[in-house]
Amino acid sequence: MFFLAFVERLFRPTFKKVSDDFVLGKKLGEGAFGVVYRASLTKKPSSKEGDLVLKKATEYGAVEIWMNERVRRACSNSCADFVHGFLENSSKKGAEYWLIWRYEGEATLYDLMQSKEFPYNVERMIVKEVQDLPRGLERENTIIQTIMRQLLFALDGLHSTGIVHRDIKPQNIIFSEGSRTFKIIDLGAAADLRVGINYIPKEFLLDPRYAAPEQYIMSTQTPSAPSAPVATALSPVLWQMNLPDRFDIYSTGLIFLQMAFSGLRSDSALIQFNRQLKRCDYDLNAWRKSVEPRASSDLRKGFELLDLDGGIGWELLTSMVRYKAGQRISAKGALANPYFDREGLLVLSLMQ
Ligand code: ADP
Ligand code: MG
Repeated sequence: MFFLAFVERLFRPTFKKVSDDFVLGKKLGEGAFGVVYRASLTKKPSSKEGDLVLKKATEYGAVEIWMNERVRRACSNSCADFVHGFLENSSKKGAEYWLIWRYEGEATLYDLMQSKEFPYNVERMIVKEVQDLPRGLERENTIIQTIMRQLLFALDGLHSTGIVHRDIKPQNIIFSEGSRTFKIIDLGAAADLRVGINYIPKEFLLDPRYAAPEQYIMSTQTPSAPSAPVATALSPVLWQMNLPDRFDIYSTGLIFLQMAFSGLRSDSALIQFNRQLKRCDYDLNAWRKSVEPRASSDLRKGFELLDLDGGIGWELLTSMVRYKAGQRISAKGALANPYFDREGLLVLSLMQ
């Protein structure tokens, strides 16, 4: 908290230009709507090198700042620690939004999943002292459960606040080295339905690899964006009717799938899986029937993992990845699933 207060006091009242206050470091990402850098404060010589992350954003930056401020107030543990956001006006470049977060760590879930060591590389990060247990399905399952529980916990925080993320994917999940937990990042496509901010979905922002089949997150019958006070009064009802949060649940289910099936972790394999699932009318059990007889050892291992303990993992997966949003489980519902009751998980969390 002291750090945040310090940073805000340091430059909020006097701030003029990003170049006066920060040293930009390595570029961490570049999308169609912004560039992300590691950075440090120039005016604070004692500050650790590169302990901040800066995003320079175009027109959608205003919404992203708004979302991050709301998250900071309502469910700060769900997302990367937001420090500040502001508009820089320069006569040459026009309006540019800058967003600043605390640097959480170097690895996203995507980076960690690319390693052959996954999920053991994550176990080392989450658990202080890894026991010398034999490697195998049981242990992998326990680690994947812990990741899923952290992910669903963060998502439940967002959804309970009234925010739908709409771009849940391994690239937007960062491992926070400070708290040894996974946090959600990149609220650039998020929607806050309670106050009508970004009410009309920006479909073009959605990542087709992880997007649920519904094209519009709100039903097309929903009246167009009401003004803020009306939306506040109406939206809990609309939320009930349309269950927009279940869009994120579908994406989270695909992440669960990729963690269980090492053969589905690459982009091309995921795209191929999406095509197969569509051909099966989004019925995971039908997909399983079609691939299991000639399954590779990778696929077989994934089914075996999800079939442990009477198939509670497979049960959870199929309750998340369903065609109809209304038939998908909520983040809270998923957390109450027997999949998370197992003894192994308890041991892991006690060790944290
Ligand atoms: P975009 O996808 O719009 O380029 P993101 O907000 O997803 O922007 O950030 C891009 C990348 O920057 C992330 O994938 C992650 O590697 C890194 N990153 C973003 N925020 C943080 C943070 N708080 N701490 C550490 N790394 C971060
Ligand atoms: Mg991103």
